[in-house]
Amino acid sequence: MSRNLGQTHCDVCGYEKVALLEDPRPITKKEAGPYFDEFEGLDVALGWCPVCEAQYLAWVSTAKCKNALHRRESHCPDGCDYFDLSYRSSFNDEPGDDDVMLVVVGEAETVTKSEIEGNVMVNITRTVLLRKR
Ligand SMILES: [Zn+2]
Repeated sequence: MSRNLGQTHCDVCGYEKVALLEDPRPITKKEAGPYFDEFEGLDVALGWCPVCEAQYLAWVSTAKCKNALHRRESHCPDGCDYFDLSYRSSFNDEPGDDDVMLVVVGEAETVTKSEIEGNVMVNITRTVLLRKR
């Protein structure tokens, strides 16, 4: 078991980016629990997957933002400054009871191609079927 997932995409459905629900702030004692001494000062923000609604605590560092202008701000307005995730209620890589409400039961990818003025436009659509836990 690890405190972090070691990834920035959703662990449940694989969606590439979770939404940050607040500005980055230091982790609280309640969130870190018995690990607070080790993680005091870590900047975090509540995160949420817009596809499957999984609940995360995003590990945030403005220094990691790819946009140099954003690195000077307190946080990246594009939300690209989180570099890792934990499940929110458990603060580790296994979800707590309230962290995952929907599970993936199926997925499919469809590819459609069309030609526009000599160019080929490819549209890749990923469809995910979710079920309540
Ligand atoms: Zn998800």
